[in-house]
Amino acid sequence: MQSQYFSQNFSQVAAFLVSLILTCASYADTNPLIKWRGSWQQGGLLLGQVQSGTTLSHNGELIKTTIDGHFLFGLGRNAAAVSTFLVTDKAGVATEVLFEVAARSYNIQRVEGVPQRTVEPPAGQLQRIRSDSALVREARRLVTDETDFLSGFIKPLEGPITGVYGSQRFYNGVPKSPHYGLDYAAPTGTIVVAPAAGVVRMAHDDLFYSGGTLIIDHGHGLSSSFLHLSEMLVEKGGRVQRGEPIARVGSTGRATGAHLDWRMNWLNQRVDPALVLESFPVQ
Ligand SMILES: [Zn+2]
Repeated sequence: MQSQYFSQNFSQVAAFLVSLILTCASYADTNPLIKWRGSWQQGGLLLGQVQSGTTLSHNGELIKTTIDGHFLFGLGRNAAAVSTFLVTDKAGVATEVLFEVAARSYNIQRVEGVPQRTVEPPAGQLQRIRSDSALVREARRLVTDETDFLSGFIKPLEGPITGVYGSQRFYNGVPKSPHYGLDYAAPTGTIVVAPAAGVVRMAHDDLFYSGGTLIIDHGHGLSSSFLHLSEMLVEKGGRVQRGEPIARVGSTGRATGAHLDWRMNWLNQRVDPALVLESFPVQ
């Protein structure tokens, strides 16, 4: 009886070990062509490295690499279960490499008490909303050679987290698009610092949804956006260092109270700032 129990248990352990090995084998770190740091899950940001001179593409789009082969790759909220890359070495030999992406489950968050005009905008505001999003797209359009993302990230302020990435949001009971930011509660006027160095691409006092909005470009198409601000401390086009004061917390736009909403984008993908902090702490 005892030995049977043992052997049953043993086969379970063996099956678990086999599944663990299979899972790991398909993962990035064990691939000789690409080394990775970061989180292979929806919303994750990855820092990869290939041999210098290697060309890399994903779904037919070339990925920008530094001279020493570093590159960024971002996974959106609903990223597919597998990411496929085409890696072409200096000699022109192309290899397809597949990586698994872990799925996440997102919670539902109900936000009551936001100004009703930001839930069902009056027809007269639609033009403004469209021109706001064109401004934001323009601010995020550049993919520069800067590599500020290589030095790691810090929190833009200390405060309790009141909203997370990916949540399905209901505003005043009305379902809206998911929340892509990390929300920190903090009193109006609290200083926000740059989580990493970069160039200010937007310092706008009043967008319809996000109110006072600041966008910092960390290079290679990676940017941070800060929403609902009460005051800008830097100007568009200026360069900021990590830890430098850039703005003050507010409750402008579609907000119920003073907080900072920090978002991160890599090209068209929205990534999770919480995962970025976890994966790329300052050394
Ligand atoms: Zn938010």
